[in-house]
Amino acid sequence: MDVLYAPWREKYFSKSESNCIFCDIAKNPNLDTQNMVVYRNEDLFIVMNKYPYTPGHILIVPMSHIDSPEKLPKNIWLNMFSIAQDSMNILYDYGASGINMGMNIKSAGGAGIPEHLHLHLLPRWSRDTNFLTSIANTRSYGVDFNEVYNKIYNLAKKYLKESKK
Ligand SMILES: [Zn+2]
Repeated sequence: MDVLYAPWREKYFSKSESNCIFCDIAKNPNLDTQNMVVYRNEDLFIVMNKYPYTPGHILIVPMSHIDSPEKLPKNIWLNMFSIAQDSMNILYDYGASGINMGMNIKSAGGAGIPEHLHLHLLPRWSRDTNFLTSIANTRSYGVDFNEVYNKIYNLAKKYLKESKK
């Protein structure tokens, strides 16, 4: 788990309009495709991790700029985990044989973006140490990230209920 949640894996975007990339994404639904958002509702959005530990690594992010779960209204916390539960179907349909789910809370907890809470969902495959090595090699040649995004986006449409806007 130390390896899975290594902070450098959480590097996301290098630039941000405000000081928080997740707030930027939250406030700009018109840029969802560019930002690789796969889903949003009134409480949260799901976005591809731009530096995935495995392909299909997604983040569930509350709209609220808070750094620790106890600061979230209970209904939003429950919505996050309800969506996380439904998102299992996305990752299994994507081909995962296992999933890691977790949060790094604040800098000391290993969060790459400590000021804005987010929940990681990582698809895993049997014996994916080898798999990851091949992915890491592939990555240097440029993984087709858009293809992964499109797949996950379509699966999100299939498994997550329509957002209420
Ligand atoms: Zn924020």
